Amino acid sequence: MYEDIKKVWKWIDGADAVLIGASNGLSITEGLHLFADNQVFEELFGDLKRKYGLRCILQGMGARWPTEEEKWGFWSRLVHHYCGKYQETQVMSDLKTVIGDKDYFVVTSNGECHFELCGFAPEKIYEVEGNWLTMQCAARCHDRVYPWGELAENMAAAEQGGRVPSGLVPRCPACGGPMQVHMEFENFIPETESQERLEAFLKQYHGKRLVILELGIGWRNQLIKAPLMRLAAAEPEARYVTVNLGEIYIPGEIREKSCGLDGDLAEILHRLAKERMGETG
Ligand SMILES: [Zn+2]
Repeated sequence: MYEDIKKVWKWIDGADAVLIGASNGLSITEGLHLFADNQVFEELFGDLKRKYGLRCILQGMGARWPTEEEKWGFWSRLVHHYCGKYQETQVMSDLKTVIGDKDYFVVTSNGECHFELCGFAPEKIYEVEGNWLTMQCAARCHDRVYPWGELAENMAAAEQGGRVPSGLVPRCPACGGPMQVHMEFENFIPETESQERLEAFLKQYHGKRLVILELGIGWRNQLIKAPLMRLAAAEPEARYVTVNLGEIYIPGEIREKSCGLDGDLAEILHRLAKERMGETG
């Protein structure tokens, strides 16, 4: 494993740019587990668990809440906890150290905005399934998204028993109908602008030394992993690095230019960061 870390570090050090792909394995490493009924979920949503039978965050995100006050009660509590109160974690600090001053782009299905909150440039992030800090018309009567982070903080401060005051419930400025968080639900407005920026980035580094760094993406992932593997196959100078615990999959056609790091994401990024800092071990 240590030899592999050294090899990957050399690839990154010699790269013209790094394309980061990240999925829920990174969120879990940061302590955000969308599927788990764990201690953190109990502390944050224990009352909603007992009232509605809520089993995990993901279920709450997709739920049809009885009222808008309850819908925004759930969302504002979630956003306040994981975005408003968010402090950069060691794993994100290490990732920033590893990238250093290289040009980069982030493709992620994670909606919690931790890349932005850690100082990654918003114009270099493509959130494939939207994000938690913007909202849109639930009927998609028009294609604009609106930031609501400040509103979320106001809602979270005023929320009682899972409900926000009716006066804080947002309405669509165009049709007056309900709003929803800009995530991949029904009527989702696709992230076309950031997708175009990703395409421009790939064009800029076509034929160059591009390192594709995949963080916590399950081996079956079609949304991000499959396109990244195709990109690795198509780009002659590309290197493909996948970091995941117990789930490393590298197809034969790109094996020569790839490296799989099977282990704890936080530990591996920490060791890569140490390589940059010129330390060993
Ligand atoms: Zn509308």
